[in-house]
Amino acid sequence: MAVLEGLEFGKSDFVLLDEVNIEQFMENLKLRFEKARIYTFIGEGVVSVNPYKQMDIYGKEDINAYRGRELYENPPHLYAVADAAYKAMKRRSKDTCIVVSGESGAGKTEASKYIMQYIAAITNPSQRAEVESVKNVLLKSNCVLEAFGNAKTNRNDNSSRFGKYMDINFNFNGDPTGGHINNYLLEKSRVVQQNGGERNFHSFYQLLRGGSDDMLKSLHLHNDPANYVYTRDGAVTSYNDRYSHNTVLSALNVIGFSEEEIHSIYRILGTILILGNLQFETDRESVLVVGMEDVSHIAELTSTEPDNVTKSLLYRTVATGGGEVIEKGHSEKEACFGRDAFTKVLATLGLHDRLCHINTCVCVSLLFSFEQFCINYCNEKLQQLFIQLILCQEQDEYKREGIIWQHMDYFNNQIIVDLVEQPHKGIISVLDEACLSVGKVTDTVCLESMDLLPSDKTMEFHRDFRIRHYAGDVTYSVEGFLDKNKDPLFQDFKRLMFNSSNPVMKEMWPDGQLSITEVTKRPLTAATLFKNSIVALVEKLSCKEPYYVAYLGLLENVRVRRAGFAYRQAYTRFLQRYKMTCEYTWPNHLMGTDREAVEAIVTQHGLQDDVAYGHTKLFVRTPKSLFTLEQERAALI
Ligand code: ADP
Repeated sequence: MAVLEGLEFGKSDFVLLDEVNIEQFMENLKLRFEKARIYTFIGEGVVSVNPYKQMDIYGKEDINAYRGRELYENPPHLYAVADAAYKAMKRRSKDTCIVVSGESGAGKTEASKYIMQYIAAITNPSQRAEVESVKNVLLKSNCVLEAFGNAKTNRNDNSSRFGKYMDINFNFNGDPTGGHINNYLLEKSRVVQQNGGERNFHSFYQLLRGGSDDMLKSLHLHNDPANYVYTRDGAVTSYNDRYSHNTVLSALNVIGFSEEEIHSIYRILGTILILGNLQFETDRESVLVVGMEDVSHIAELTSTEPDNVTKSLLYRTVATGGGEVIEKGHSEKEACFGRDAFTKVLATLGLHDRLCHINTCVCVSLLFSFEQFCINYCNEKLQQLFIQLILCQEQDEYKREGIIWQHMDYFNNQIIVDLVEQPHKGIISVLDEACLSVGKVTDTVCLESMDLLPSDKTMEFHRDFRIRHYAGDVTYSVEGFLDKNKDPLFQDFKRLMFNSSNPVMKEMWPDGQLSITEVTKRPLTAATLFKNSIVALVEKLSCKEPYYVAYLGLLENVRVRRAGFAYRQAYTRFLQRYKMTCEYTWPNHLMGTDREAVEAIVTQHGLQDDVAYGHTKLFVRTPKSLFTLEQERAALI
C-alpha cells in the first residue's frame, strides 16, 4: 500500500508552493533532501537531487508499488515518471519520451539506468525468450556506452562525456522489441588531453590492462597506460579496468556486433594510442615523422598503405581559387594539430557513432569553452522544445476533453536560439565564416566580427563574450573557438580511411569520397555538425509525448503546470479509487453516469472550485485536492 508523505517532508510537488519563486523552491528542495527525499514532482515531471550514496528505494517492492499506479498515489520517484510514460504509450499507442537533463554529475546516467531497469522489470511477464533477449541488449548497451563514452573527471569517477538519445520500441503488448541509441559526443578533446587528475575514456585503460597478451600483441600495444601520451596522465588510477574489459567484450557480443566489427573497434583504439605517440621533426625545410615503425603499425591496423598514412599526416590537399588541386606541406605544429584532430574524429566516428546501433548554477566569473557553448546551445533548444511541447500537449488534451483553454504567457527563448543558429547572422555562421577565411583570422578578430551581430540584450562583449542563456548568464572565453570549430576539416584523413581495404573501417568515412574542390568550398565545421545533430534530435523528440527528469527551467515549468490543471484522471478510474470516501458512491453508485458519481465525490469534499469536468476525465488544478482524497481514503483502509 502506498504511503503518502506527510508535510514534514516538505511539498512533494512544487506546484504546491505558496508562491513560485527561487527562494521557496530551494527551501523546499533542501528540506526534502535533508529528510532523504531526493525526488520532487513538478506535475508529471520529477526533479532529482543527487544523494551521492546508495538509497534503498530501487528494490523489487518499490517497483511493484509504482507499477500501473497514478503519479500522485505514491511519493515522487523516477519510477512514477517511467510508469506514466510507459502507461501513456500503452493506453494511447503513442510515442512517449523521457528526457533526463542536468549538468555533469547531476545523476542522469544513474537515472536512465534505473528507468531502464524499471521498464525491464515491468515488461514481458510471460518471459518470452525473444523479448528477454531484447531487454538484455538494452541493459548491456549501458556498459559498452560507458566504456567508450565515460571517463573519470574531478567531479565524477564515471562521468558521461556525451549526450545520449535512446529509443525503445514496444509491441502492442507493451513489451520491448528493439531500440537504438544515438550519441552526441561533446568532448572528443578528452581523447588527446585531460585536465589534471582526470582520465581518458575508460576503454583505453580497459584494453591495456585487461586485454589478453595475444590481443595486445596483434594490436602492437604494451600493457601499461603510462607508455602512451594519451593515457599516461590518468594512468595512476585504476578502477576495475582489467575486469571491465571482459565485461565489455562479452556485452559487445550480446549486443550483436560481429567478430569483424569488434576487431575493428579494438584496432581503432590501438590506432589512436599509437597515433598519440607519433612525433614530428623538421629536417631543413621539411617535416618528417619520427619512428616509421609506428606508421607501419597504423597502416596495418587501419588496412591502409604506410605511404598514404605518412602523406595524410604531413600534407594537406586543397583546391586553389582557380580550381587547381595542390598539396601543402604541414609545419610541425600543423602536423601535431592534424594528428590530434584525426584521433578525435577516429574516436567519434570509429568508436562512439559505431556503438550507436543499438545548469542553472552557472557562475558568471568562470569562463566557459567551445564545448560548453555547444552544450548550452543544446539546452536552449531542448528548453524551447519542452515548453512548446508541454503547452501543445496541454492544449490538445483540453480540446479533446472540451475544457476551455486559458492563454498562458511564458518566456520564449527563441531569441537566444536565433542568436546562435540563424543562417548568415548567428554565432555559428560567424564562426564558420571565420574558419573559411583566407589569411589569419584570430579568435579575437572573430569576436570583433560577432560584434556586428544584431545587438540586443541577450549578448554582451568584452574580451570574452557573454550570453544571457535561459538558465543564466554564461561568459565564454573565445580562445580556441576557431581551432575547435575547424577540427573535422582534415579531409586528407577521411580520404585515407575511405581507401581502407577493411570494409568496416571504410564505411565509417563516406565523406572521404567528396571532391577536394567541394570540401574546400564548403567544409562541415564542428559547430555546424553539432547544430545539425541537435536539429535532428529536436525533430525526433517533437513528435513524442514528453516526460521529464529535469533541472532546467524549473520555475517556468512550475508556472505552466500551475496555470492549468496539473492532474487528470478518467472518471472510471477516479471512481474506483475514491468511491469509498463518499456515501453516495459506496459500495456502488446509483447515479446515471460515472461522471455524475465523480461530481458527488468532488462536492462532498468541497473540491468543486479546483476541478473541471472533461468528456471522459476529471481535471484537477492542484495536487492539494488529490492529497485530501488520498488522506480520506487512507483513513478508511
Ligand atoms: P551524470 O550522468 O549526470 O553526469 P551520474 O549519473 O554519472 O551523473 O552520477 C554521478 C555520480 O553520482 C554517480 O557515479 C553516483 O555515484 C552518484 N549518483 C547519481 N545518482 C545517484 C542515485 N540516484 N543514488 C545514489 N548515487 C547516485
